[in-house]
Amino acid sequence: MDISVLQKEIGLVSKEISEHQAEQFAEFGDLLLARNEQINLTRITEPAAVCRQHFLDSIMPVRSIPIDGKSLIDIGTGAGFPGIPLKIMAPDLKLTLLDALDKRCRFLQEVVDRLGLTDVTILHGRAEDVARDDSYRGQFDLATSRAVAKLNILCEYALPFLKVDGQFIAYKLEEGVTELAESENAFRLLGAACDQHETYHLPEVEPARALFIITKKTQTSEKYPRRAGIPGKKPL
Ligand code: SAM
Repeated sequence: MDISVLQKEIGLVSKEISEHQAEQFAEFGDLLLARNEQINLTRITEPAAVCRQHFLDSIMPVRSIPIDGKSLIDIGTGAGFPGIPLKIMAPDLKLTLLDALDKRCRFLQEVVDRLGLTDVTILHGRAEDVARDDSYRGQFDLATSRAVAKLNILCEYALPFLKVDGQFIAYKLEEGVTELAESENAFRLLGAACDQHETYHLPEVEPARALFIITKKTQTSEKYPRRAGIPGKKPL
């Protein structure tokens, strides 16, 4: 895929990307667009839009949050966003990709193999179930999630996975700021606080986007997450 738009606009995030990283983004784009003909992965199919709305958007946190060498779980990763672009930017990231849809997980395995990515675990399951498994509960420095659910629901999915002092990075539209007030109860019950919030514009893309950085302050009660489906039906 032609990634010239990403190379032109990468200065928004980072000084530059190497030739190898550029090849990995291009190959990921090729696979995404080819497999999208067979399975529903994305509605964004024009290369410039993929560069901006998937690649650039995914890597925005790199500007303010050190991620290299950390462990990160991307919840509801779908076709690998934001997890795979973050991994391309930070090759030492210990990445776990979680999604409830098996066909998307199979696509992700193909991406990992073709791009030669190491230290990537792909998990097929629901966040509410996987967060009860001691191999994953309380194990991560960072969690991310984009376009999966409202913030109070996402907090119940994400915070159990984090170590105390770990950070959950929620990708939202700027208007998602209204979800902050609705999440106060979830923050309280889950022992977390939103101590960073930044907005940004992607070139030629409306509306503006926002990142909410939520820090886990205390251990999550064993009560959370509730059984699969309940966080969505009865948000905290
Ligand atoms: N994060 C990707 C992005 O920004 O392009 C995909 C977004 S897609 C709209 C939402 C994804 O979240 C789907 O692939 C769905 O299977 C997954 N998902 C929704 N609820 C989930 C849950 N409770 N546990 C795991 N995955 C979930």
